[in-house]
Amino acid sequence: EKIRAGLAEEGNVVFSFEFFPPKTEDGVDNLFERMDRMVAHNPAFCDITWGAGGSTADVTLDIANKMQNIICVETMMHLTCTNMPVEKIDLALSTIKSNGLQNVLALRGDPPHGQDKFVQIQGGFACALDLVKHIRDKYGDYFGITVAGYPEAHPDVIGSDGVASEEAYKNDLAYLKRKVDAGADIIITQLFYDTDIFLKFVNDCRQIGITCPIVPGIMPINNYKGFIRMTGFCKTKIPAEITAALEPIKDNEEAVKNYGIHLGTEMCKKILAHGIKTLHLYTLNMEKSALAILMPKNSRTWQNLGLIEETKILRSLPWR
Ligand code: FAD
Repeated sequence: EKIRAGLAEEGNVVFSFEFFPPKTEDGVDNLFERMDRMVAHNPAFCDITWGAGGSTADVTLDIANKMQNIICVETMMHLTCTNMPVEKIDLALSTIKSNGLQNVLALRGDPPHGQDKFVQIQGGFACALDLVKHIRDKYGDYFGITVAGYPEAHPDVIGSDGVASEEAYKNDLAYLKRKVDAGADIIITQLFYDTDIFLKFVNDCRQIGITCPIVPGIMPINNYKGFIRMTGFCKTKIPAEITAALEPIKDNEEAVKNYGIHLGTEMCKKILAHGIKTLHLYTLNMEKSALAILMPKNSRTWQNLGLIEETKILRSLPWR
């Protein structure tokens, strides 16, 4: 079924897990084992990314099918316009439809490796808005459509000073509203580490009449280098207190991971305290941090939200 229904339930905090397609068959097997354990905690849905430039199309389609029909979790497949003529887009959509999937994250996609700028291919789409329109035109209400939102504006318009101008930010929001007006049901945000920026973004979206659920994308910090790479790529603001906390421990992997769990938990607590009831976890295909953030209150760790049962964690987590 479409995930919008699950997200709209009153009073219920829900969470979801994002995965990406591993490069090897062993990797895929491992991912399914992990996913199976994570799905035992009842996420509202899980999603699988579409490799940059369509590089993982077949693997993504296959994983999405197995998630929906073997792991039995409500599944959302990402789909991008990069290198995708409309025939290929339709092949992907009709494949997932015939496999019973009803949820798509419609994206423009990044330029393929080695290219700076996104280029619309012949017979393809220029932006996510085109893709949303196409899905609604051709498939009616069959699919639940999610789109990406950028609390700090899209990186293309973030300047060398690390911020977007007020005008660029406003244009970005107006464009996001067009994606919603064209038929998107849910917004999931780009990762961020300054929770106030996310809360302001939600407020700004509401001000211009975006009423759909806006789901914060939370990426627990798992390792220092990965964090620096990812925030550099996405031009994400790193608040000074996070830099100060990470600097002295950056070579201690375990300490960084624990800090990442602590930080992710505090961010989620603040978001939940503002009445937002959904959390989307970028797992990077790892289970420990995402689950630890959702752990029960009163567990032996100090980091916890109390959204999942500890008994289940004890049964399923190999690291205990
Ligand atoms: P769009 O919504 O099309 O737009 C990006 C920006 O371009 C807009 O914010 C706006 O500023 C500008 N723009 C575009 N068209 C117009 C227009 N007509 N008028 C005015 N402004 C316009 N990438 C992958 O390759 N695979 C994935 O699986 C994937 N998953 C993602 C999941 C999430 C939750 C997020 C946030 C990003 C993901 N990405 C993924 C990255 C994404 O593809 C890139 O950020 C890409 O550069 C933009 O995609 P988009 O769908 O946001 O683009």
